[in-house]
Amino acid sequence: MPRQTIAYLCEHKCGHNAVVSKKRMAAHEQRCAMNQARRACKTCEHNVRDPDEGIYCGIDALPEDVKLMFDCPLWQAPNV
Ligand SMILES: [Zn+2]
Repeated sequence: MPRQTIAYLCEHKCGHNAVVSKKRMAAHEQRCAMNQARRACKTCEHNVRDPDEGIYCGIDALPEDVKLMFDCPLWQAPNV
């Protein structure tokens, strides 16, 4: 019979697997790309998701060899 445990999910709903360690999940949340405080592409208003052209930066702020930037100076909160 499996034993039951308590597991933790990321508060930013990034899809990270549940972990048993609360401390480990808190550490993840600090560096999570879905955490707006990290100013990453995934939460930026300029992040374009086009069904044909894919995902790209709408203002070309991303260097060519970088797929995901953190602490972007041009990051803008999404207009929801
Ligand atoms: Zn996360």
